[in-house]
Amino acid sequence: MFFKIKKSKPDTIIQKTEREIKLKKDVLDSILSFCQIKHPNEAILILRGKSKKGNVLIDGLVIPPFAFNAHASSGFPHYMLPADISYVGTVHSHPIGNPSPSITDLNNFYELISLIVGFPYGDKDIFAWDSNGNAVKLTII
Ligand SMILES: [Zn+2]
Repeated sequence: MFFKIKKSKPDTIIQKTEREIKLKKDVLDSILSFCQIKHPNEAILILRGKSKKGNVLIDGLVIPPFAFNAHASSGFPHYMLPADISYVGTVHSHPIGNPSPSITDLNNFYELISLIVGFPYGDKDIFAWDSNGNAVKLTII
């Protein structure tokens, strides 16, 4: 990418193509098997990684403390989490299949990125979303 982002641009205009999420293959495999184990309940994990100018590299997972899993919703109290700069977002499963973020998901958005895995939790069933519910490019590395 050679074009520069103009500083004069209002913050509200963020082109989704400017962002890219990279996910390590071994992390993807761990996420998919965790979702399969939790099915038909929702699974939720914290994503660890590095971010630079909206681009995120996900290279690890953390099981959230005090996570609860129920059929229709999963989550954890954000205030219980340490402020750890290596936390870049969360991943959770949608056992009903549709990998789009729900209103609840957007209201509980945590850090930079939300990954959602839809049933049946295959390599192509995982999608990345920003806090506005816009799809973000996800690359497996
Ligand atoms: Zn959800």
